[in-house]
Parts: sequence; structure tokens; C-alpha cells
Amino acid sequence: MLSAVEPRVDTDNQTVYFRCIAGCSAKHSIFDVIYTCPSCGSLLEVHHEREPLKKRTSDEWKQLFDSRIGTTTWPYGSGVWGLREWVIPSLADANVVSMFEGNTNLFWAERLGQQLGIPDLWIKLCGNSHTGSFKDLGMTVLVSVVKQMMAQGSPVKAVACASTGDTSAALAAYAAYAGIPAVIFLPAGKVSTAQLIQPVANGAHVLALDTDFDGCMKIVKEVTQDNSIYLANSMNSLRIEGQKTVGIEIVRQFDWAVPDWIIIPVGNLGNISALHKGFQLMMDLGLISRMPRLVAAQAAKANPFYESFKNGFKEKVSMTAQQTLANAIRIGDPVSYEKAIKAVIETDGIVEQATENELAAAAAHADLTGMFTCPHTGVALAVLTKLINRGVIKSSDKTVVISTAHGLKFTDFKVGYHESTLAEVNSQYPNPAVHLPATVDAVKTEIEKRLN
Ligand SMILES: *Cc1c(COP(=O)(O)O)cnc(C)c1O
Ligand SMILES: [Zn+2]
Repeated sequence: MLSAVEPRVDTDNQTVYFRCIAGCSAKHSIFDVIYTCPSCGSLLEVHHEREPLKKRTSDEWKQLFDSRIGTTTWPYGSGVWGLREWVIPSLADANVVSMFEGNTNLFWAERLGQQLGIPDLWIKLCGNSHTGSFKDLGMTVLVSVVKQMMAQGSPVKAVACASTGDTSAALAAYAAYAGIPAVIFLPAGKVSTAQLIQPVANGAHVLALDTDFDGCMKIVKEVTQDNSIYLANSMNSLRIEGQKTVGIEIVRQFDWAVPDWIIIPVGNLGNISALHKGFQLMMDLGLISRMPRLVAAQAAKANPFYESFKNGFKEKVSMTAQQTLANAIRIGDPVSYEKAIKAVIETDGIVEQATENELAAAAAHADLTGMFTCPHTGVALAVLTKLINRGVIKSSDKTVVISTAHGLKFTDFKVGYHESTLAEVNSQYPNPAVHLPATVDAVKTEIEKRLN
């Protein structure tokens, strides 16, 4: 499967680099251990200068990316590394840490769309990935860069993150694949069983702390101060480079047509920033000529971005996030706040919220049309329903809902729903298994009762 390792030189450092999102002029190498602007403290972003990329026409880019789909030529079969020139071009083949993430299915939710009154409804199943969430898209990039840094003699000896569950699963898997130690900070008792056992199985150092995600984040920031442990949270903008491929992938899957709406569940706001960044790049290089409208969907129990949107983004809202079934977006002080405001404003976007009852009902409804939705996808679907009912999303609009994780990571949520035991949820569609005596009569009677 491996092609001959082609040596790559670090020539694109001048055209791909970290820069401050607030506009400070310094450029920093993406192979430096740096997360925020040394002058003003703002987040950094990986900037790709446009001129060198314009040496290819938009059609040439499309052909190049299309030609790599499904290939086993390393590392282009990955949905992320198939876009290598737009991600981290200077990474050596030997340092790419990939488990062929991305290229997830975008499917037509025909029956659900008909029931909701929008036949052109599509679900992007980002949870059909190596560790069961979209976090793999960002982690392949971050861990690859760390591998290259270590190969070049950097003092980094481990990677670390605070997590609401899925980030740690992805970091632990990619670090284990690369042979790099991982330290994971989880809020004790606040992640699902599947999410907890993933880093445990992958051999990470799992530290469960008596606090919430925001509390874990404060501690991991301190612990990674001395530069020997590399911070893998989404304030590290390398992850955004991998995650931005999801929007490009959606457009490619529509034969380079742009949908009208993309609805995405948000917590720390990295993923919506990434989505926007991918679309911006396609606009600048002429692959598309308009933006989709982005909708950020929040759980009402953890809704600082929704509250900020309501005040016209006049001031940032932070809060202590409450317990929610959508535990991966239980975040009260989102790190990529500034980037996400830009994503919403520049796409004429919307922020909307969903209660526990609304998210659970939306997930259960979608499941009845063949899906197996995680609670975060439930938040996005509940918001979709609201916007349709309000007449904002029209029946002819092409709409994509981003499903961020695999439902199998959240079986406690499903079981609780169908046993009608979830707090603040009135289960409208419970379908518990029925226990019967092992007789043909009992079975026939039950089937007749149900199918008539
Ligand atoms: C991380 C995560 C999110 C939120 O992404 P942000 O970048 O934090 O906004 C949504 N859903 C799932 C399943 C996640 O793991
Ligand atoms: Zn700055």
C-alpha cells in the first residue's frame, strides 16, 4: 500500500504559517510549540497564502482532489490528506499519522426530509470514523505535526488534552498509532462509558478530575506551559486545518455545488470555525461562488453562544454549563468564540438552541427513519425543525445536518429514552423490547396486535 517515501522539504514555511487572528503581523512556524499570539494573547490560525495556490485553476484543484478519492497511494486515501496542499503541505509522508479518516458518507435523508417538509435534506455522518466522531479529522493533522517535530529533535515528549469525551478518544488513538504518549484530562462522571473506555483501551494516561470541562481546560493549560507536553485542544489551530476539510468534502460530494444551509452542533466552537475556513478557502480560489448559511446549534443547558447571538454579539457570554444529554457540547466558556462569530456573520448565519426534551425527540424521530443519532446530532435536528417551522428554512432548500458522532457511543442515552427514564425528557416514541413466553401463540397474538 505504501508508495516510495518521497522526501519533502520544508519550503512552504514562508507561505503556510501561524498568524494572529487579531491581526498582529508576526508569522510563526507551524512546527513551533505555540498556541496563542505572544503579543496580544489571541488565538492563532494557520494561514495559507493564496497566491501560490492560485497557480492551479479551480478546475485543476477539483480534478486533483477528485482523482484521489478511494486511492491507496499513501496518504491520499484519507479525506484530510487527499487535500494535502490545503492542509499542511510540508509534512513528510513518513510523518503522516493517518487512519484514513474523512470521506464519510453524506446521505439523502429522504424519509425524514419528507416528514419534515424539506425533501432535499442530507446528513453528513462524521461519526462514521475511526474513533466515532469528527475529532479524528483534526487529530490526524495535529499528531502528524507532533511526529514531525519530534523527528526533528523537538523537546516535546507527549501530547495532552482536556476533553468532553470525543477529543480524548481521538487523541489517544492517533497518539497510540504514532507511538507518542498521551495524557487525557476528563471531567469525572461526565462522559459516556464508551468515551471513557476508548483512551483507556488505547493506553493513554487517563486522569479523571472532580471538575467540569472548563475546569479540566484550566489545568491542562498550566501543565502544558513548559513545552514538553503538547496541547491538543482546539485552541491549537492545527486541528482546525483537518476539520476544515468537512465543508470541502460536502461540496465535493455534491459535485462541487454549495448547499443552502449547514446545521452543526457547537460547544467549544472550533468545528464551526473550521467549516467556515474551508468554505472561505474554496471561495478565494474560485471553486465556489457563494457561501452556505451556517447554523450553530446549542443545547439550552450550555448556550453561551446562543446568548451572545441574542445580544448581537455585543459582549461575550460565559457561564457554568449545566448537565445535558449532549455532553460533548457541555461547554460554558468556548475557546474559538471570536472565530465562530466571524463564521456566523460572514455567512448570514443563525444560532439556535434546543432543550433536553427537544433534542431527545428529534434524535428518536430520526432513528425511526433508519438513523442512529447521537444527542448532539439531536440538537442539530431539533434546531432544523424549529427553523423549518418558523419558515426560515424553505421546503426547496438544500440542507445538510452535520452528525458529529456515532450513536453507538451514546447507548445510555438511547436506553434511557426508550425506557422513559431520562430527566426532563418526555419520551414520545418509546419502543422498549417486549418480553414474551416462548410460545407460538403468544408471538402470533403480539404480532397481530402490532401490525394491524
Ligand atoms: C466536540 C464535539 C462537538 C462540538 O465541537 P466544537 O468544535 O467543540 O464546537 C459536537 N459534537 C460532538 C459529538 C463532539 O465530540
Ligand atoms: Zn496578536
